[in-house]
Amino acid sequence: MNEPFSPALVTSLVFALVLLANLAVKFWLASRQIRAVARHRAAVPAEFVDTIALSSHQRAADYTVAKLRFGLLELGVAAAVLLGWTLLGGLEWLNGALLDWLGPRPLLQPLALLVSFAVINGLIDLPASVYQTFVIEERFGFNKMSWSLWLGDLLKSTLLSLAIGVPLAAGVLWLMQATGDAWWLWTWAVWMVFSLLMLVIYPTVIAPLFNRFQPLQDESLSERVGQLMARCGFKAKGLFVMDGSRRSAHANAYFTGFGAAKRVVFFDTLLSQLTPAEVEAVLAHELGHFKHRHIVKRIAGLFAFSLAGLALLGWLSGQPWFYAGLGVTPNLPATLGGAVPNHALALLLFLLVVPLFSFFLSPLMAQLSRKHEFEADAYAASQANAQDLSNALVKLYKDNASTLTPDPLYVRFYYSHPPASERIARMGAQVLPT
Ligand SMILES: [Zn+2]
Repeated sequence: MNEPFSPALVTSLVFALVLLANLAVKFWLASRQIRAVARHRAAVPAEFVDTIALSSHQRAADYTVAKLRFGLLELGVAAAVLLGWTLLGGLEWLNGALLDWLGPRPLLQPLALLVSFAVINGLIDLPASVYQTFVIEERFGFNKMSWSLWLGDLLKSTLLSLAIGVPLAAGVLWLMQATGDAWWLWTWAVWMVFSLLMLVIYPTVIAPLFNRFQPLQDESLSERVGQLMARCGFKAKGLFVMDGSRRSAHANAYFTGFGAAKRVVFFDTLLSQLTPAEVEAVLAHELGHFKHRHIVKRIAGLFAFSLAGLALLGWLSGQPWFYAGLGVTPNLPATLGGAVPNHALALLLFLLVVPLFSFFLSPLMAQLSRKHEFEADAYAASQANAQDLSNALVKLYKDNASTLTPDPLYVRFYYSHPPASERIARMGAQVLPT
């Protein structure tokens, strides 16, 4: 050992330390949140005392804690899986096995590596998904899925992922090999075109494979919504009601697509819980996101981050220590005649490791998102009625069993939406009995 601190060893150490830091911070935040919710379980917060029953409040606390506890278990499993793929040699083994089986085929072997990695990870994630749906959601009365529906969804989404993912992965691998040193720039361009395409295809082609979308039938509500949209100068290609109740009792409304594919989607569960005035206020909030160009800003942010990420990957993929430090032997040109490039390995290692670092940016991202929510609320208050939005929020919090007493630091890291009490106070509305 002439080089006690080889670049590969330093890489392994940095990786291990960042993984430990992730685990420590995530465990700490989750236990803070569990304690904050448990501490307030005995009493409804003063401002909600006339609106939310103690039983609802305690159900929300129990649901939140059950999800957090399970999240801690998942965190441990995810860390073990990550170590398994990297330092413990999982990816090294898979790559070697596929090389033995398929030989050094320049496109086929890396493609097989990407697909088998995705399939194995998907299988590892299955038990957690089953437990979440059929134990946690079931216990709190949210799950409406039968096993056959769940299996049908799994089959459909697997086939769809393969149909879309395999050609995309093959195209990206080909670009990586064919375009020389600037492959990351080409890959970025293709990936971004694909993302924009998905924004159009998802609401019009993919989502209808899983749910039924019917034009909004309720005439008085349609008229009300139409007037709001005219007032806001907004043209959507349609108002749709989605049969969300087939799968879950959670309620939602969203706004999707862009250009010609733009549409407003209400979950049937939302329409059954809110009054027309409240639905209007919720939609005004969604239109606020559009008016403030939040969606365009988010897409621009994604473009910039992906470009920076791919540039970094372009550089890392040429560094032998990047592979060795993460437990993988790069395919050596000398042994394989240079036939199999390392792009697929680099891509997988990168996808495994990047979240550990980007996690520390999540307070920034979450803060930006919460700022957007306040802006959309302010817009809704100017175009519809703030009190209606406040009433709708309280109902949704109650029906979704969301906690009203989160830990402030947990909020900073994870909450894309500000806590209900802050949103209501900011709008100058009140918590009224409904
Ligand atoms: Zn929003």
